[in-house]
Amino acid sequence: MDASERALLIIDVQNDFCEHGALAVAGGAAVAAGIATDLAVRSADYGHIATTQDWHIDPGTHFSDTPDFIDSWPVHCVAGTPGADFHPGLSPALGHVGARFRKGRFAAAYSGFEARLAADGEASDSESGMLLGDWLRTAGVTSVDIVGIATDFCVRATALDAVAQGLDTTVILPLSAAVHPQSVAEVVAGLQDARVTVLTLG
Ligand SMILES: [Zn+2]
Repeated sequence: MDASERALLIIDVQNDFCEHGALAVAGGAAVAAGIATDLAVRSADYGHIATTQDWHIDPGTHFSDTPDFIDSWPVHCVAGTPGADFHPGLSPALGHVGARFRKGRFAAAYSGFEARLAADGEASDSESGMLLGDWLRTAGVTSVDIVGIATDFCVRATALDAVAQGLDTTVILPLSAAVHPQSVAEVVAGLQDARVTVLTLG
C-alpha cells in the first residue's frame, strides 16, 4: 500500500493520562516515549499522522467526585490546562503530526472519530472543525494504525469506529496502555471479532 493511504492516529497521549496525572494510566509515559522512538525510525511509513486530545470544558456526568472508572472519572484534561497538554515524552514526535483533533468539550467522547480538527494553540476551539473521519477520507486514507491511551477506552472506541467507517484498522498494542490491564485480553478479543488487526509485538 502507498504510504499516502496510511495514517497513524495517536490517541490522547496527555499529561493527565500518564504517571502523576489526574487520571494516571500506568505505562502512559512509556507509551509517549515509545511512539516518539517509533516515529523517529519510520514516520515515512505514514502519509498522515494525527493526534487526538481529550479536551473538556463541561462534560457533565463524565466527571464525578465519586468516579467508578468505567462511566465516570476524576476531573481530567480540562481544556487549556497542563493536564490536557501532550506528555513531554511525545514531543519529538509532534513535528511529524500534520493535524490535531480534540474531543469531549461538553460530553464524554471516547472515540477519536468524535474529535474535530483543532486550530493550533487555541484553548477554546469551535464545534465546527472537521471531524477526524471526514479528514481521513478527504486525505484519501484507507488504512489506519492506532496507538495511545487508553487501550480499553479511547483506543478501543477509535478502532471500532475506524472499521465501522470502512478503514483497514490496526491497533499496535505495545504502543498503548490500559486503565484496567486485566481487561486487555478481552478488549483484544473484541477488537479482533470486529476485524481489527491487533499487533502484540513491538
Ligand atoms: Zn475524558
